[in-house]
Amino acid sequence: MIILIKKGADETQVENLKALLRAKNIEPHVSKGSMQTLIGCVGDVANLDPTLIEALDAVESVRRVQEPYKAANRKFHPADSVIDCAGVKIGGGGFGVIAGPCSVESEDQVVGIARAVKAAGASMLRGGAFKPRTSPYAFQGLGADGLRMLSVAKRETGLPIVTELMEFRDIELFNDVDVIQIGARNMQNFNLLKEVGSYTKKPILLKRGMSATLQELLMSAEYIMASGNPNVMLCERGIRTFETALRNTLDLGVVPLLHRLSHLPVVVDPSHATGYAYMVDPVAVAATAIGADGLIIEVHNDPPHAKCDGVQSQTPEMFAKTMARIAKARELV
Ligand code: PEP
Ligand code: MN
Repeated sequence: MIILIKKGADETQVENLKALLRAKNIEPHVSKGSMQTLIGCVGDVANLDPTLIEALDAVESVRRVQEPYKAANRKFHPADSVIDCAGVKIGGGGFGVIAGPCSVESEDQVVGIARAVKAAGASMLRGGAFKPRTSPYAFQGLGADGLRMLSVAKRETGLPIVTELMEFRDIELFNDVDVIQIGARNMQNFNLLKEVGSYTKKPILLKRGMSATLQELLMSAEYIMASGNPNVMLCERGIRTFETALRNTLDLGVVPLLHRLSHLPVVVDPSHATGYAYMVDPVAVAATAIGADGLIIEVHNDPPHAKCDGVQSQTPEMFAKTMARIAKARELV
């Protein structure tokens, strides 16, 4: 952290600031220029709140030179993390496509879709059993019954399953689940992140909150990792902006940026990012070409009658075509 001192600041105020830093085990290194004085902070500044320092009379501004996330930081873990999802490797060159319905609706539906996406080359099955819906009157998911149906689909196809956990009290129902999804709406549910991180080392697919900055996403990953689970995959699923033409605004540039900042794999969700089935294919191809480590795509056997997110769901036929194009995009990277 670097502290810029105001021009003409009172010497005793600067001395008080230095004493405050020392009291926090931080060694202040002062450099006096003809125009400006800087204090370089050497030591563990993780617990030093920059806004508190900035509020002091003598201080003009404060600049962090080290990111507040450590476990997720590429600086302290230069190699790509490879997350083993029941045998499917994501990250460090490992690439996988998670596909399936937004929500599990029946055993026949989820088993049928699982077979179709597997035949098209998907490596994992998705399906929501506990659904975070904007309206309390909308379909809320089949809960424990939905998880049981996912297990049947897993047994029938061998595909590992990915599903969302909304509340920690349901975790014991997730024994057969291979990847636990933490949804956008829960990205900053810090208690849930801590509880999941300390309870299990299963891979976690952490979706970016709709108004979350990248630093906030990485800090949420940090919560899970600091609690004991290093197996985190980040998921860009579009954010909210002034643009309302699409369901969300896909922030594709974050893929190379997250790869620079962090060693964790980055999965892109072209379904929630766009909201329209016809756009899923080109965006999935673009996400692959930009270097995503995986994709999560909604596929439904009968999109017009889907209980959730039908408009953005590909049919199995569309998905098969997209998979072929994703394979070509993979050759690029
Ligand atoms: C989902 O994957 O179905 C979902 C609800 O996603 P998100 O949390 O990104 O909105
Ligand atoms: Mn959905």
